Amino acid sequence: MRTLLLTFVLILVSAFSRQTSTRQTDEQVLLRYFHSISSGEIADWMTEICSPKYNGRLAGTPEYLAAAEWAAGKLKERGVKPAGDNGSYFQRFHHPYTVVNDIGALRLHIPQKDGSEIIKSYNAPDSYYPGMNSGNGEVTAEVVWVGYGMTAPELNYDDYKGLDVKGKIVMMNRDVPFKDVRNPEYAKWVKYCYHQYKAENAAAHGAAGMLYIDGNSANPNISYVENMIVTGIGPEPLADILAGSGKDNKVLLQQMDKTFRPASFATGRIMTMKANTIRHPEGMTCNIAGMIEGTDPQLKDEVIIIGGHFDAVGNAGGLSVAGGLDNASGVIDIMAAAKALASSGIKMKRTVLFLLIGGEEVGLLGSKFYTEHPLFAKEKTVTYINLDMVGNGTGLAVSASESCSALTEYFKSANDRYIHRPMKVSTSGGVFYGRPRSDGLVFHADGFRTMDISTTDGVKPVYYHLPGDDETAVTPEIMEDVAKLITCHL
Ligand SMILES: [Zn+2]
Repeated sequence: MRTLLLTFVLILVSAFSRQTSTRQTDEQVLLRYFHSISSGEIADWMTEICSPKYNGRLAGTPEYLAAAEWAAGKLKERGVKPAGDNGSYFQRFHHPYTVVNDIGALRLHIPQKDGSEIIKSYNAPDSYYPGMNSGNGEVTAEVVWVGYGMTAPELNYDDYKGLDVKGKIVMMNRDVPFKDVRNPEYAKWVKYCYHQYKAENAAAHGAAGMLYIDGNSANPNISYVENMIVTGIGPEPLADILAGSGKDNKVLLQQMDKTFRPASFATGRIMTMKANTIRHPEGMTCNIAGMIEGTDPQLKDEVIIIGGHFDAVGNAGGLSVAGGLDNASGVIDIMAAAKALASSGIKMKRTVLFLLIGGEEVGLLGSKFYTEHPLFAKEKTVTYINLDMVGNGTGLAVSASESCSALTEYFKSANDRYIHRPMKVSTSGGVFYGRPRSDGLVFHADGFRTMDISTTDGVKPVYYHLPGDDETAVTPEIMEDVAKLITCHL
């Protein structure tokens, strides 16, 4: 990257030492590609990619693949070359998905003194969110509170100990009682953090339903279990279920985090959960890969990857999340930079790979697929730069793993010279033993040097995994500057 930046320094330096006509030519090239990035086009592309026809770009769906075709077409139009399988722009892989036909139902049965009952129905998405990988059907059963929903004999810890949850609804929390993700001990706990594990463990204990606390937003990152209904719940149903029990979810967790002793109990509350879903085992998804080849005979085999996830969290029976900030913002920034660089004709020394990743929201599958099937050798990869949720704010932030912290200088210098936004620069040091929650961490865990670009000082409300996250959730002006930053640091 140093040499890439030097290329531009040389262009600038030589510009002032040559004849006027040459100087203008060099400057024009530099300025043309920089100024060709416009917030207007970015806004248009945001509207396209967030359009209802792509139905929330859930990995595995035909709508995701259609959106991927659109993006590949845009790259092709500007001369970004295909870098995927068999001369295509795609790295395809199999990924089953679930269609959620409607929002289902969540009801609490409240017994009255005269033997009758009142039924309280909850609303989505205010109080609950239909499980994005729920089984199909309906269950009415008692709710059993099972803490973190984990069974770990080797850690002498079992939230299900002494309980019979067969045919019942289990209600559980995210995370595990051990919280220090920088402690090597965490490695023993991490596998119990995954939503997939928690759903599978509930099913293994015979549960017919699973209520996931703090879950009234879309979460397709959970295992599908054919006959188990899964629903994410917010504070209201939780409070109703625990009302009169003398127990508080938070207090119980605090105790468990101190003592590492489960505190599970049957709530005595009856609920009805209903889901209307269809499973599609045949689903396919893909990463989208385009490149601009380097021109230096010695350095063109080296590659800089600029990536961000292309998928969003889909449409649950009309609750459609277009994934505007998360992560159309990153995708469109990358596409705008790719277009500017490709159409400028500027000769870069190293190869740049633009990688739009499929399947982040369903468990970081696209980045795992890439690290298992890299298109360029890891040893030749200078860095992987991740962009996720980079479209809301007035400031910029760049962080890098220790192994490539020096590279942040090039962003800093690009910002000082061309962008002039407040910018935070940091190094993410140390080992992380927790559940990875970004594509960057997947690359990092696989031994790639990684960087992360983000925006700071948000000016718009964030609708994380909620229907409000559409093309209006971003500020195209900061997106323009992010695209310019990744363009001109190279
Ligand atoms: Zn994201």
